[in-house]
Amino acid sequence: MRYDTVIIGGGLSALVCGIELARGGKKVALVAKGHSTLHFWSGSFSLLNGDKSSLAEDHPYSKVDDAQFLEDAYTAIEILSVAGISTVGSVDESHRYITPTGGAKSCFATIEGMLTLEEAKTFKSVTLLGIEGFLDFYPDFIAQTLKDLGVETTLDHFSLPETVIRRANPTEMRSVAVARALDKEENIRALASIISRCTTETVILPAVLGFERSDVWERLETLSGKIIRTVATMPPSVEGIKTERALRRVFTNFGGTILSGHTVECGNIVDNCVQSITTSKCVTLTADNFVLATGSFIGGGLTSDRDCVGESIFGVDTLQNTERVSRELFEQQPFMGLGVVTDNDFRTLLSGEVVDNLYACGAVLGGFNPVKEGSGAGVSMITAIEVAKRILNR
Ligand SMILES: Cc1cc2nc3c(=O)[nH]c(=O)nc-3n(C[C@H](O)[C@H](O)[C@H](O)COP(=O)(O)OP(=O)(O)OC[C@H]3O[C@@H](n4cnc5c(N)ncnc54)[C@H](O)[C@@H]3O)c2cc1C
Repeated sequence: MRYDTVIIGGGLSALVCGIELARGGKKVALVAKGHSTLHFWSGSFSLLNGDKSSLAEDHPYSKVDDAQFLEDAYTAIEILSVAGISTVGSVDESHRYITPTGGAKSCFATIEGMLTLEEAKTFKSVTLLGIEGFLDFYPDFIAQTLKDLGVETTLDHFSLPETVIRRANPTEMRSVAVARALDKEENIRALASIISRCTTETVILPAVLGFERSDVWERLETLSGKIIRTVATMPPSVEGIKTERALRRVFTNFGGTILSGHTVECGNIVDNCVQSITTSKCVTLTADNFVLATGSFIGGGLTSDRDCVGESIFGVDTLQNTERVSRELFEQQPFMGLGVVTDNDFRTLLSGEVVDNLYACGAVLGGFNPVKEGSGAGVSMITAIEVAKRILNR
């Protein structure tokens, strides 16, 4: 099968790059072996804590000038909105989202309806409503964060007949299962009745609303007469899965093809040009350009052993680091910056030579630390948009 561009990966970077190429008129295939890290995600898109000009030369953002960087960030929001994902926040001014453990982290866009620290400060009092027996949401931590902001916080829990049944089996009491239960009309009505009895105008729930139905939130607000906000749960992330599904829909609506459940096992490179790739289901794909959007260690794009870090399909060049792991979890861990090196056009290198038609974007790239810098989703989206631009301009 022949395409203009084949993208390897099915996460945020692959989907954003694919959407940009497909709406630029290219015939694009996306090959994904499995779920992406959006399934772990909080519901907020981080861009960068601090100043872009202070980043190292090999940081992916350093390959993008300031004006393009801003334009790309706006494009990222526009792509989300085309996918029907409404966000709050702005590229020009960061805000903070509340993590599942009650921390606060900087970001530029948050799924509408999820509580931000800035909005929380405007509330005088709220009710934080957990679910009995749901272990992936920590209302006590979040309540402490709200109390620290001076918000009067009432902590309560609810259960519905269906959540009581699910509690019997801990694997059944996970965010996606709860969200599926709350898609049912009888459960929406029962929960709305519980919410309506809360004494505050605003009620905060775990982010488990509207998995299959898009009107759950609105129905709950209308039936209960309250303002509802949510805070992220531990994985799996209902908002992340919804975001992945929505982006996939946009990509295919623009004519893109998705080969799900295919692992790309190898590529054929001749004269520093990828000719084809072959998947675990013996499908061979040829294209003018290829994009590596396979993620880091979690996604499977990078492999490691005691001595080095490698790229898993083509064996293209990666940054290496022999420093030991820091004992401080959120410090600059040496392994976090490891990943694929590219030229200024995000083309990969093989033994120091540019592979002319193999680009890389997202978490597979080296040179950045998503945790320390707060740049995870930002790097994925900005580099994906940049790669698409470079391919469209070829
Ligand atoms: C636990 C966790 C929580 C996070 N939370 C946040 C957050 O709250 N905010 C934020 O901004 N960022 C967050 N991030 C970072 C952000 O989610 C990631 O940086 C971003 O989603 C990475 O997207 P990606 O497409 O580059 O890679 P991934 O999401 O890792 O996607 C890689 C894709 O490639 C596929 N793949 C890999 N190898 C192959 C192969 N050989 N053949 C075919 N397919 C292959 C995988 O199946 C997967 O679909 C978080 C990351 C993690 C790990």
